[in-house]
Amino acid sequence: MAERMLKFTAVERETPAKRPAAARGGDFHEIYADFIDAKAAEQASRCSQCGVPFCQTHCPLHNNIPDWLRMTAEGRLQEAYALSQATNSMPEICGRICPQDRLCEGSCTIEQSGHGTVTIGAVERYLTDKAWEEGWVQPLCAGPDRGRSVGIVGAGPAGLAAAERLREAGYAVTVYDRHDRAGGLLIYGIPGFKLEKDVVERRTRRLAEGGIEFRQNFEVGRDATLAELRAQHDAVLIATGVYAARDMVVPGVGSAGVIPALDYLLASNRVGLGDAVPAYQSGELNAAGKSVVVVGGGDTAMDCVRTAVRQGAKSVTCLYRRDRANMPGSAREVAHAEEEGVTFEWLAAPRAVLGEAERAAGLRAARMRLGPPDATGRQAPEEVEGGDFELAADLVIKALGFDPEDLPALFGAEDLAVTRWGTLKADFKTMMTSIPGVFAAGDIVRGASLVVWAIRDGRDAADAIHTYLSQPARMAAE
Ligand code: FAD
Ligand code: SF4
Ligand code: SF4
Repeated sequence: MAERMLKFTAVERETPAKRPAAARGGDFHEIYADFIDAKAAEQASRCSQCGVPFCQTHCPLHNNIPDWLRMTAEGRLQEAYALSQATNSMPEICGRICPQDRLCEGSCTIEQSGHGTVTIGAVERYLTDKAWEEGWVQPLCAGPDRGRSVGIVGAGPAGLAAAERLREAGYAVTVYDRHDRAGGLLIYGIPGFKLEKDVVERRTRRLAEGGIEFRQNFEVGRDATLAELRAQHDAVLIATGVYAARDMVVPGVGSAGVIPALDYLLASNRVGLGDAVPAYQSGELNAAGKSVVVVGGGDTAMDCVRTAVRQGAKSVTCLYRRDRANMPGSAREVAHAEEEGVTFEWLAAPRAVLGEAERAAGLRAARMRLGPPDATGRQAPEEVEGGDFELAADLVIKALGFDPEDLPALFGAEDLAVTRWGTLKADFKTMMTSIPGVFAAGDIVRGASLVVWAIRDGRDAADAIHTYLSQPARMAAE
């Protein structure tokens, strides 16, 4: 093994080729090329096959990373793929959009010895893309029919991961979603330059072909109450994500030209998918030719600034109230945005939207500094007196994060318990909510999080539902 592995001292870390910023700024295609076979094998061979693999511990799915890296280095690609998909419902998606610098790669031992982490995410993506190309991805095979059904509310990664596992276990599965396409934020939130849409669509197609019923344009709360859904199924999983956008509280925030981030990204994704979007055509949700300011410092803000560049904005500025080191978004995404020409105003917070006749023309911002840590341990931003400045802006995008919607009210289910943050209360072990037979997974339990955690929760919820429906008393009752 040593001959083929442990090459990290001789082989430099290399990611797949990244398209130059000037070339990629005009389209919504992904920015990284595919690994060629030899490069994937070479990069995988850098792994030192740690006895205690911290990469695996820090992957939310506990993927068996060292083993599939070794198989990749040995050219045993089909086996490597089989191993990687055994713990991950969407490896090619995680390989593309996990913030690896904070998860698996951030804990890679060889990086700690100064050699640059193994490119785990790029190899994972390569393996599964290869598997799709070669026909190694098998159709979804339903287990022997159990005569039981599970209803899943939400076709995001949590709902889809649960649906796949439950179908494999022999349940009839119906997925309800208020949108017209399945995928949740994978399809309508995350832009194509991070995750091309055919990558998502081939996954959802496989699930539909495997017998999972998708009921799109079905909004629980509008088209059925939770109780009605519960009466139709032996168990229900709520995986609705978090969609109540936090607002800016400044004068002028109601002006035309001040828009929520998700409306903006959704319109852009729909246009990319070929839909007619009147608010995009009218310019309301389109940055072409505009001076754009995006307020926020998370992944959503990064997706907005980079979308605005691609739509042909005149200028794009990101305003964030803390500094670069303290922003919640991935450092990798900030670097991409900077390469693409985005200006960052660190330590700056909006004070007022400026303009005439209730149309935004600019933004007044306060200069901030970081004060002592607050109760959460993070340094709290404080205003610098006399530090105000103005920016031209005829499009202001609010990307300040998301809270849960009021599900008990929306679903007509006052007995559905929530935490003080509005997320659903679910038992840590059984994943069941306060309503018997109703489970919850993904962002609606964790708050805004990551795709890989939604997948993990969806898989765990499927196992918990299976355990619940397999209890002898429950079997006898049917
Ligand atoms: P969602 O993906 O939000 O799916 C929930 C689904 O439920 C949606 O399809 C919704 O239409 C449906 N739904 C909601 N209410 C109802 C109802 N009443 N009736 C029927 N259907 C309903 N994570 C990463 O790991 N990497 C990234 O690069 C990344 N980028 C992001 C960029 C943006 C712009 C955003 C907003 C998030 C990003 N995230 C990223 C976070 C990630 O997308 C989420 O953590 C993940 O999608 C959560 O999965 P989920 O299944 O819980 O919910
Ligand atoms: Fe890393 Fe994400 Fe893949 Fe886990 S799922 S190995 S964290 S890229
Ligand atoms: Fe390989 Fe890095 Fe994981 Fe160690 S921590 S097994 S070197 S990928």
